[in-house]
Amino acid sequence: MPPYFNDACDGTHDPQLRSWVGDASGHADFPIQNLPLGVFRPRGAEPQAGIAIGDHILSIPALLDAGLLEGDALTAGRAAAQGPTLNPLLELGAPCRQALRAAVSRLLAEGSPQRPNLLHLAADCELLLPAHVGDYTDFYAGIHHALNVGRLFRPDNPLLPNYKWVPIGYHGRSSSLRPSGAPVRRPHGQRKLPDEPVPTFGPARHLDFELELGVWIGPGNRLGEPIAIDAAEGSIAGYGLLNDWSARDLQSWEYQPLGPFLAKSFQTTVSPWIITPEALAPFRQPQLPRSTEDPQPLPYLLSDSDQRSGALNVALEVFLLTDAMRQAGLAPQRITASHAESLYWTPAQLVTHHASNGCNLCAGDLLGTGTISSADPTGYGSLLEITRSGRQPLRLASGEERRFLEDGDEVILRARASRVGFVSIGFGACRAVVTPAYNEGGNACHA
Ligand code: MN
Repeated sequence: MPPYFNDACDGTHDPQLRSWVGDASGHADFPIQNLPLGVFRPRGAEPQAGIAIGDHILSIPALLDAGLLEGDALTAGRAAAQGPTLNPLLELGAPCRQALRAAVSRLLAEGSPQRPNLLHLAADCELLLPAHVGDYTDFYAGIHHALNVGRLFRPDNPLLPNYKWVPIGYHGRSSSLRPSGAPVRRPHGQRKLPDEPVPTFGPARHLDFELELGVWIGPGNRLGEPIAIDAAEGSIAGYGLLNDWSARDLQSWEYQPLGPFLAKSFQTTVSPWIITPEALAPFRQPQLPRSTEDPQPLPYLLSDSDQRSGALNVALEVFLLTDAMRQAGLAPQRITASHAESLYWTPAQLVTHHASNGCNLCAGDLLGTGTISSADPTGYGSLLEITRSGRQPLRLASGEERRFLEDGDEVILRARASRVGFVSIGFGACRAVVTPAYNEGGNACHA
């Protein structure tokens, strides 16, 4: 067993551990070794904090009412039950979060008294955003994505000279973050393709997805006070999936000189479960070594322990389900298989860089990693890359073709952490259906 995760693994990761919640054993996403945090609304009830277990959700307020928590776990449970968002829990940081995990693991373990009255069937609940997101920042840390996109626009000089020195990012829009399941409406905007003489205004014709990980901020920093690289893990409350919907025809026209704006701010879809750093402890891995020609990170971004165990062994997938496939009863088709190892910067480096100028990060803030493409074309994290900006259509098993997304298309992101000797955990789906642009009926033509 590699030394870098010995300390962080405990009885909650024991592969022999099983839950009295029968559907948790062998569950693809939520076995008892995961225990992700979220906010759900049971039918006809108020939103409340919960923990996913198999096909069920454990209610944290119900745990409190039953008097089943004590010490730091009680502190965590009370923070989670304060309101319809997890911000107070995220702000508490690792010790209370770990205590809650340990307590819930014991309560749900086989051999503990069965308490089905604390559970809700997930299928009967609505899943909400887990936190109020004050600020959302999207990075560009997927190096193969940056290379692919750069090659499309600058064949001779795909990576700009700053890329390997400074984590590139932009401030996104938090008001249009939506949880998995909420449909995404095709945006209108100014569109101008290179061969068009002037822009026109209308529904986006080149709507795309971006496969990203989300990083949830826990305890933040005070304005003016940076977060040291070795303290950055302490500011991360967990991880999720993020689809940074992008209207490429709007983006290519508007992005210079200040970067993404309306091409991305119309909506961003987030998976509803926060996968905690504790759940991911067995699935850390070394950051891939940089090529000898690449610069070393500047000292404020460089830490031995972060380089040794700051990356995540998380496999990522994208599935597409078109209207025609849905009508024909076909399953979603996997169009991408990627991996988080393609991130050129670790999550800790993103956090440290973000706060390095004294910018204050707050509990519930959300960072996107940037699109995660693998070097291999089967692992491209956007249609822009898969279809070479629409030049090489993607042929689907249904006989259809896609250059970009059509109305009725559903994009489903999935992620999975695994390691020999441990029980794999999943992130749950991050999915949404594209619906027609405002004021258009049915599957109107977008041209
Ligand atoms: Mn993005």
